[in-house]
Amino acid sequence: MQQFLQKLKTQPVMSGTSTGQAFWHATAADETDSLLDSYSPVDGQLMARVHPTVREDYDKVVETARAAFLKWRAVPAPRRGEIVRQMGEQFRQYKKELGTLVSYEMGKSLQEGMGEVQEMIDICDFAVGQSRQLYGFTMHSERPDHRMYEQWHPLGVVGIITAFNFPVAVWSWNAMLAWVCGNVCIWKPSEKTPLTALACQQIIKEVLEQNDVPEGVSCLITGGREAGTWLAEDPRIALVSATGSTRMGKAVAQTVSARLGRYLLELGGNNAIIVTPHADLNIAVPAIVFGAVGTAGQRCTSTRRLIIQESIYEDVKNRLVKAYGQLRIGNPLDEKNHVGPLIDQAAVAAYQTALFHVKEQGGRLLLDGEVLEGPGFESGCYVRPAIAEMPAQSAIVQHETFAPILYLLKYRTLEEAIELQNGVPQGLSSAIFTLNLREAEQFLSTGGSDCGIANVNIGTSGAEIGGAFGGEKETGGGRESGSDAWKAYMRRQTNTINYGTSLPLAQGIKFEL
Ligand code: NAD
Repeated sequence: MQQFLQKLKTQPVMSGTSTGQAFWHATAADETDSLLDSYSPVDGQLMARVHPTVREDYDKVVETARAAFLKWRAVPAPRRGEIVRQMGEQFRQYKKELGTLVSYEMGKSLQEGMGEVQEMIDICDFAVGQSRQLYGFTMHSERPDHRMYEQWHPLGVVGIITAFNFPVAVWSWNAMLAWVCGNVCIWKPSEKTPLTALACQQIIKEVLEQNDVPEGVSCLITGGREAGTWLAEDPRIALVSATGSTRMGKAVAQTVSARLGRYLLELGGNNAIIVTPHADLNIAVPAIVFGAVGTAGQRCTSTRRLIIQESIYEDVKNRLVKAYGQLRIGNPLDEKNHVGPLIDQAAVAAYQTALFHVKEQGGRLLLDGEVLEGPGFESGCYVRPAIAEMPAQSAIVQHETFAPILYLLKYRTLEEAIELQNGVPQGLSSAIFTLNLREAEQFLSTGGSDCGIANVNIGTSGAEIGGAFGGEKETGGGRESGSDAWKAYMRRQTNTINYGTSLPLAQGIKFEL
């Protein structure tokens, strides 16, 4: 690990403020400052200590970013795309090192850590193409010798607040598109994963330098929720893109709305899979298990609820219990293991509380959860994935617990299953396993799933960057990455041009002098 950290130019004590090429030492930083300590949930080791950004430096960062915007917006979009292409090349080069660091700092499996970096590479590729396609419509004017069209302009400074569970990919979804659109970015990563963020900044630094990109195009501030609130409150931040819990999203939405600013929210999910009697269980079972235990149940798209038709309920249940019996829990850097640790002790406590509520609310644990102890589990963050049979209306089922707990629910008719699936406050991802065309189409129809993502014969997690990603209801309504998500990072302008010799007014209004 040490050699990876060296290659990524990360050190034991680091400045957590950067405007791209420059890394700042906090103005008020001295030995008494509270440093941001990054502990690995893998082995409990202290990985690094980061000087969090102080308010005074935050203001300097914003001013540097604002000055950079005036230059960056004048760079032609395809040229901005070319710079993003070079960043993608850097991420290709550092995929193993960054993927390993993601795995060690966040605790997801090495496969998933590398997958996260691949997602960054994919969004860079996508953004390069997008840089030549920032299209606006043209319309026919109702007036003679007039032309009407729409064009898209950058917004300015984009603030990006990210969660611990996708410590690097979510930043890249936002930043790469925001940059090709002509914006500058200030990233506030999770206080639980500051090191991966610093590593990203180091990786792209070379590209920024080689291309004479103005200082301030890619900024990084570190700290806890307070640093996030600076972005939310600040009228100089044109767009706040925030990923995290629904609690955080509600706070950000209220603050940004109060100043009539723009926000883009990617919040909690409570995702379900419906399994019908027409399902191919040979593909359904592995998809359910990956969705429920992958990233130790800490994906926004993790499968939390399984809605099974009563005629196949016992069969599915038995297959799942058997499959869970084969899971290997342990160090996520060891590729033989399927399940790594939770992020920290607070997450372990939330897992235990949820299991307590399962029993209290009339649930039956098919596979008991437990916190693992002994050699290899010294960090205290490793837990056993649990499965619980739950009464449909239990309060705990409505709640997103960020841990590997799968709730089983029974249904009779597909209408009932869809109602159960939609009957939670969140609306991120959903899936149905069926080979029956009518069932699949009913699930996808207007009266079907109410989520931002609805899959057939694919689990709830593991989206590709080409589609717009996001969800409804308490998930926040935002869309990021593919499709036309770029529009969130630009402002639309309608232009009407009169190239004639008279001044006809719209709607035929007469005004003569
Ligand atoms: P969190 O809400 O605790 O923190 C997320 C980020 O918000 C952190 O950077 C934190 O410092 C900041 N923050 C917290 N309170 C804030 C406030 N009041 N104002 C401004 N910033 C604030 O979430 P977490 O525990 O890091 O991540 C897990 C959550 O994120 C889950 O609910 C998960 O579903 C969600 N998530 C959603 C998506 C998605 O795309 N929908 C993706 C990843 C994670």
